[in-house]
Amino acid sequence: MTHDIIIIGGGHNGLVAACYLAKAGLKTVVLERRESVGGAAVTEEIHPGFRCPTLAHSAAPFASQIAKDLKLEQHGLEVITPAARLLGLNPAGESLCIFDDLARTVTEIEKFSAKDAKVYPEFATTFARIGRVLAPLLAMTPPAIEKPSTGEMWNLGKLGMAFRRLGKKDEYRLLRWGPMAVADLVAEWFETELLRAAIAARGIYGAFAGPWSAGTSTGLLWQSAMDGHAIAPASFIKGGIGGLTQALATAAQHAGVEIRTSAEVALVETSENDAPKVVLKSGEQISARAIASNADPRTTFLKLIDPIELDPTFLQKIRNYRAQGVSAKINLALSALPSFAGMAGDEGQKLSGRIHVGPDIDYLERAFDASKYGDFSPLPYLDITIPSLTDPSLAPSGAHVMSIYMQYAPYKLKTGDWHSRREELGDAVIKTLSAYAPDLEQLVLARQVITPLDLEQTYGLSGGHIHHGEQTLDQFFTFRPVIGWAQYRTPIKGLYLCGAGTHPGGGVTGGPGANAARTIIKDLKRK
Ligand SMILES: Cc1cc2nc3c(=O)[nH]c(=O)nc-3n(C[C@H](O)[C@H](O)[C@H](O)COP(=O)(O)OP(=O)(O)OC[C@H]3O[C@@H](n4cnc5c(N)ncnc54)[C@H](O)[C@@H]3O)c2cc1C
Repeated sequence: MTHDIIIIGGGHNGLVAACYLAKAGLKTVVLERRESVGGAAVTEEIHPGFRCPTLAHSAAPFASQIAKDLKLEQHGLEVITPAARLLGLNPAGESLCIFDDLARTVTEIEKFSAKDAKVYPEFATTFARIGRVLAPLLAMTPPAIEKPSTGEMWNLGKLGMAFRRLGKKDEYRLLRWGPMAVADLVAEWFETELLRAAIAARGIYGAFAGPWSAGTSTGLLWQSAMDGHAIAPASFIKGGIGGLTQALATAAQHAGVEIRTSAEVALVETSENDAPKVVLKSGEQISARAIASNADPRTTFLKLIDPIELDPTFLQKIRNYRAQGVSAKINLALSALPSFAGMAGDEGQKLSGRIHVGPDIDYLERAFDASKYGDFSPLPYLDITIPSLTDPSLAPSGAHVMSIYMQYAPYKLKTGDWHSRREELGDAVIKTLSAYAPDLEQLVLARQVITPLDLEQTYGLSGGHIHHGEQTLDQFFTFRPVIGWAQYRTPIKGLYLCGAGTHPGGGVTGGPGANAARTIIKDLKRK
């Protein structure tokens, strides 16, 4: 045995876990199937001289405590937070910019509705208060449902006290909002469709759900627990999101972690008496005291483990774990910055955060409808960034890269397949965006279209699901990935999970990796 722990996958969560494990004195190796680490958080060249965050483009945000613990700034991490959080566009050529600065945001909302402008500050502070109560859950190992330990009871008790301190009005709001459709929640506060849709979008990001789906408010509340805001500050990284995973890789190596790329694990083998081992695609075998999988739960249990090793009930639960993605990505190399309608000269600043295309709730719901019936949306919801505005090193002088997250494109198409319909998807996205930026098409030097099938085949995301599985109430907290196994351990002795398919779920937060490392360190030290 050459290592204490093997990590399958060098996504950001695998790297976070590796850093903490190595810092605890455990000899750790990361095995990544691709030629570089980072998983869904990478920056790659899409055209000579143009580098773009290939998949994720804005960190969820990444937990500041983890960045501090791992001294990521010393290893090259530079977070960029532009003044503009989100720019909403509508087909009438109007725009609504949400800034970090509350007063500026209120002035923007006033263009649409005096009533909404008056209510917005209370909305923002309500989410901040509720977010503060939910935030400790993120760094917590979910309690054992059947037999919570004293420590777990203590943590839950503290949470209960914080909940009581919220006061009756917010307590009631929190309990009532969770199961609600996010469309209903935003309609209770605002009358401006563009504002409603921009907020509701956070509740459906990455989900097989539309704003009228029950429980989508949970997505919004959960996301806002991460930063205390209903509309997140844009959290970019110098060098694109890959700058974060490069800093993590450097920190890991500094702590003594061995990182091996182009090292795909084909099989995990465990037995009662021997140390667990992995068999690489090359045939090489490596054993260690424990193995942590950063691959998603379906990949881990349905591809890397012989089903005979799994209890049939557990196996059935994993088969029922929902991970059918609806997202695609289009990255563009542009010869210049496109002109967006209605920007009146202050484009640079307003475009430097996230740009939201999905002007009203019905638009978002219709976009979802298409995927329900097995097709991609001809008028999709888009979450766009132009990373070269805040980091000009990503593109040649005067040119830009545009990163377009597209929803809804279902993993399974009813007609045709993703190989034959790839360019059609790219065309639909360019056409949709051209309604807001008419000169876009003529500025495109190159485009990269990443379908849900590519997400699975190239980036290893089962079902093309960006969060390693749906984040609905039934696959959440003590239920993530499945009830009874939410504490990063698995029914296989010596095998742990440490990726986004565990609590606190998807997004570039580092939470699952850090929480899993805590459990693994405890178990290995006890042994
Ligand atoms: C298109 C898209 C857009 C997104 N946008 C955002 C965003 O803007 N903001 C945000 O916060 N989040 C976003 N996300 C979600 C976020 O990127 C993910 O939830 C997060 O990166 C998951 O991190 P992870 O480390 O858990 O897993 P991953 O990043 O998926 O890493 C898992 C790693 O395991 C490797 N692996 C799998 N199987 C094996 C094997 N058999 N052997 C060896 N290695 C293996 C994979 O290659 C991969 O490197 C987006 C995701 C996608 C796909």
